[in-house]
Amino acid sequence: MKCKCGNEKFMLEWGKLKCAECGTRQYIRYSAEEHKIMKNEKHYFWAVLTPKFIEARDKHFPEIEDDVIINMCKDIEKYYKGKWPKVHCKTTASKWRGKHIYWRYKFNPHKKRAEVVMSNITNSDRIQDRRKEEVKFVTVDFK
Ligand SMILES: [Zn+2]
Repeated sequence: MKCKCGNEKFMLEWGKLKCAECGTRQYIRYSAEEHKIMKNEKHYFWAVLTPKFIEARDKHFPEIEDDVIINMCKDIEKYYKGKWPKVHCKTTASKWRGKHIYWRYKFNPHKKRAEVVMSNITNSDRIQDRRKEEVKFVTVDFK
């Protein structure tokens, strides 16, 4: 990646990249990450990290390792005790490491798979959702 000024060094500021030379912000779009997570030898689900979630993770937990996020998704999936998810479902939130995390546990009919779709991390003073829809709060037993 190159800035319009020709520089190739960038700094991360509030989840956005900024040119280290001229300070121009680079509006890069994060792409979603998908992880297939095995529950045992046969059964699995998918963790989908949305661009919004990845941006929030980099802002709130810049040092965090991937396996910490994977374990968080495993604990969320366990919360549903093997119940098969529906296609449509509410956004759900829980406290995690002093923040609120948001996800939807859903069945993806196109890919025919169960997904934990991680959508955001916010400060824990109140539940927030951009789309103003109702968010269901639960307490997940995080290891
Ligand atoms: Zn520049």
